[in-house]
Amino acid sequence: MSRVSRRHLLGSVMPFSAGLLGLPALATAVQSASSPYRRPKLKITDIRTAEVMGHGYQLHVRIYTDQGVVGHGEGTDAVQGGVPLVRMFRRFLMGQDPLNVDFLFERIRTSGIFAGAQAGQYVATLTAVETALWDLAGKALGLPVYQLLGGKMRDRVRVYCDSQTNRRDDPDAAAKIQHIRDLGFTAVKIDIDERTDPMRWDAVNWTASNAEIDNMLDKVTFIRESFDKRVDVAVDMHGRYDLTTGKRVAKEVESFKLLFLEEPVPAENVDAMRDIRESTATPICCGENLFLRHGFREVLEQRAADIIMPDLQKCGGLLEGRKIADMAHTYYIPFAPHCVVSPIGTMASCHVCAAVPNFLVLEWHWIPRLELWRSFVQEGDIIQKGFVTLPDRAGIGVEMDEEAVREAQVPGTPWFEASGGTQE
Ligand code: MG
Repeated sequence: MSRVSRRHLLGSVMPFSAGLLGLPALATAVQSASSPYRRPKLKITDIRTAEVMGHGYQLHVRIYTDQGVVGHGEGTDAVQGGVPLVRMFRRFLMGQDPLNVDFLFERIRTSGIFAGAQAGQYVATLTAVETALWDLAGKALGLPVYQLLGGKMRDRVRVYCDSQTNRRDDPDAAAKIQHIRDLGFTAVKIDIDERTDPMRWDAVNWTASNAEIDNMLDKVTFIRESFDKRVDVAVDMHGRYDLTTGKRVAKEVESFKLLFLEEPVPAENVDAMRDIRESTATPICCGENLFLRHGFREVLEQRAADIIMPDLQKCGGLLEGRKIADMAHTYYIPFAPHCVVSPIGTMASCHVCAAVPNFLVLEWHWIPRLELWRSFVQEGDIIQKGFVTLPDRAGIGVEMDEEAVREAQVPGTPWFEASGGTQE
């Protein structure tokens, strides 16, 4: 309803209603409650970092404001060495209104065109900053982040478990598989690239021998047989192999009806990925090492993948992730994000997964670190029976348990230390 029509309505109807109800202040109260939202005049006053070892290295970023609202974001994998970059980003953030998230993201991104802002460390570090801005914006506005991304299409996000076993000769395999079953996951993933395979004849070249391929197939067979048919199985090759191996494996695993085969060749050669995709009925998934919409454009245009998997704590952030998902949706391609971060980054990813139409499944890689996972945020384990339920709390909706996480702090690194001289 426009302001004009609301005023007209209030002016004509409310005095009568208020008088009828004997509540003379009602019209005023309704008008006040109906008035356009007055956003807080927030200003960024500091940006601080902490470094944690979880499933790999994590960079945690906190953005502070003059009203005490603080946003928390996380970046991973490509953020090693990102702390000096965060310091450099300060000049674009200090004193700014943190609610202009996309403006600040674009300002920092475009300022770095000669400094590597197309991909890698620069974008991954910016991702942690962008995520913190969304958390901050949600807290300032009293809304969950998914609401700011367009609202949610689903109340819970399906998560697959990256298994810690893949072979029948692992003496602990039965217990590990039973553990995954007990946790209630509806999808699992295994790795089949094996650097130490005894049938590998060269330490550098990744053309798999027949015996290596047999070993790969045995792993897939073992995992497929270990789970109920209703549990989906995905397989990762980590982009290590050449085209001929990728094609052979994709063909050989067709009968297993995989959820997807991930990166049989490196993702940067889009033509090679497309060759494999066109050669097989096995769905091909790629993209955990691609950045920004620009990194996915050619994959989509060339029809090189059946499923894309941007890492939302690395590829550019939550809104960039939503934009990548939307691009994929125009090709009817599902979105299955890579995810190895803590419950903070995982929940941030879940807000995007909840908001886009073409979400398929989200990765989870912490089963060997379950104790740290469960103590990482004050809200406890965010995954229940293989799903994350979106919280209604403002922002990302989870807060770090600092006492627990400091056990995993990278030794010798600062812990959200004030930058100095900038606090208000
Ligand atoms: Mg992977």
